Amino acid sequence: MEKNITVIKGDGIGPEVVNEAIKVLDAVAKKYHHTFHYTDILMGGCSIDAYGVPLTDEAIATAQSGDAVLLGSIGGNTTTSPWYKLPPDHRPEAGLLKIRKALGLFANLRPAYLYPELAEACPLKESTSAKGFDMVIVRELTGGLYFGEHTTKEINGELVAHDNLVYSESEIRRIAKRGFEIAMKRRKKVTSVDKANVLDSSRLWRKVVSEVAQDYPEVEVENMLVDNAAMQLVKDPAQFDVVLTENMFGDILSDEASMVTGSIGMLASASLRADSFGMYEPSGGSAPDIAGKNIANPIAQILSAAMMLRYSFNMDEEADAIEAAIKQVIAEGYRTFDIYKEGNHKVSTSEMGDLIVNRL
Ligand code: NAD
Repeated sequence: MEKNITVIKGDGIGPEVVNEAIKVLDAVAKKYHHTFHYTDILMGGCSIDAYGVPLTDEAIATAQSGDAVLLGSIGGNTTTSPWYKLPPDHRPEAGLLKIRKALGLFANLRPAYLYPELAEACPLKESTSAKGFDMVIVRELTGGLYFGEHTTKEINGELVAHDNLVYSESEIRRIAKRGFEIAMKRRKKVTSVDKANVLDSSRLWRKVVSEVAQDYPEVEVENMLVDNAAMQLVKDPAQFDVVLTENMFGDILSDEASMVTGSIGMLASASLRADSFGMYEPSGGSAPDIAGKNIANPIAQILSAAMMLRYSFNMDEEADAIEAAIKQVIAEGYRTFDIYKEGNHKVSTSEMGDLIVNRL
């Protein structure tokens, strides 16, 4: 198969870990006789430096013309970087919101899986981590609070800020369908998370999710309030299969789920639309604190590439092969510094990439 991949290396550790993912994709292409064409575009801080904006229209057009986007991460140190002195719509993260909207990516998938060998890194009680967990957070990505109108006005001599939270039935229905479809391929359980005791948008969410659920009678559905979900994620994460939720709750819960696995450097994510197109990136950020040192964990980025093969290119066997190679390297005791424990072999970013290529 021949595929066009738009590559956004981005800022911080982005270029280092994306290079490793490309190394692995090239090895997959060779082994399975595919051809991957890569086209680089700029987004985030590097685009601000080059063009004065976090994402150009030309870059969006390039991304739209490809089969999928492989994204590193964007942004810098939010306290010291000059990028954060710019108005909010000119900062690096504005590029990310813009590209998600332009590409119509409304569903964000964040798997949180505890590797048995890394159970020690899990910050939860041993009795909890021993059970393991394997969940995917399905987050609505283009609606809700982050995309509503934002204003700050002076009223009666003080500043008053408004952020609008808007959801339509159709927006909720399409993400709910995605969530149920994913559950059908997994353990057939959906936990829909909302704040229906307080918010109208959540009451509508709950109503539409229960309507969509009628079409998936095999899937067990439960509703959970977001505050309870935040507690349950640390108390008993093994109970979750698919966690279906709106934009802001999903943003927060998916970071929490990432943390309980023990390393943000191990977690991939996918942003999808209704067809096969998707954008694939690690769950973490650009980690400016460790950028340029060849020590970042490239596994999240490599797993993102595997998700791209699975969800956009329908290459399940190839994706399985990458995941198996990663499991093998972990089982053999190779670790980047973030997951390193005494007795393991400590390796650099590029050495980890080489090991995975070697085990393919
Ligand atoms: P971060 O995820 O970049 O870093 C949090 C911690 O995790 C740091 O200590 C970092 O060193 C570590 N870490 C992250 N990825 C790692 C990896 N692959 N290997 C080893 N350690 C890793 O979060 P942050 O510090 O809050 O944000 C830094 C920048 O990233 C900010 O500008 C933020 O806006 C941006 N950001 C971008 C994205 C994205 O591109 N999608 C997502 C989140 C944050």
